[in-house]
Amino acid sequence: MSASAQHPTHPETLSEHVQDATGESVFNCYQCGKCTAGCPLAAEMDFAPNQILRLLQLGLPGMEEEVLKSLSIWLCLTCETCAARCPQEVELPKIMDYLRQQSLKRGLVHPKARDILAFHQAFLDSIRKNGRLHEVGLISAYKLRTFHLLQDVLVAPKLLARGKLSLLPHGIAGKADVARIFAKCAAADAEAGRHEPQTDKAEQP
Ligand code: SF4
Ligand code: SF4
Repeated sequence: MSASAQHPTHPETLSEHVQDATGESVFNCYQCGKCTAGCPLAAEMDFAPNQILRLLQLGLPGMEEEVLKSLSIWLCLTCETCAARCPQEVELPKIMDYLRQQSLKRGLVHPKARDILAFHQAFLDSIRKNGRLHEVGLISAYKLRTFHLLQDVLVAPKLLARGKLSLLPHGIAGKADVARIFAKCAAADAEAGRHEPQTDKAEQP
């Protein structure tokens, strides 16, 4: 959290909501562009990382909606390169994460982000259910959600033959602890009035 960030008492604009939820002030950004220069996905984004912050700084309703409708917030890998390069210590990945939540909540998810959401949901479901990732379960759930049933299907036998994929999930000692983490997150979301991301809902922006 930036030292100068202060939580607004009654957030109104999206930038104030960002600050309230993440502790990050978009106004710490002075648009040097170092984040965008280092971002591995910037070339694919509809708005570069520094442009996302500029739109939030301007704070006009139409621009805020542009941010929440953008593909950029879903392409962000949370790789932290931007945060590591930023001279102002702006934690852009935290901001991107909050923007994704708001995009879902307000039904503004970019149509091209559907597969990304499906992957997120399948990944979380696998961890929730097994305590750790079960790759075959993840792939199956992802394919069922996206109908990409035949995508990469020829690779599966080779991976199975080499022991890279297990048909059954492996048990772990801390499975109950992982379940408790999910339960606590769900309770915190409910208390904060946030909803859990639902891929099926988000697939109809
Ligand atoms: S590196 Fe930091 S200050 Fe520079 S444009 Fe990006 S967020 Fe703003
Ligand atoms: S965290 Fe996101 S915005 Fe920042 S450099 Fe990585 S992909 Fe780009």
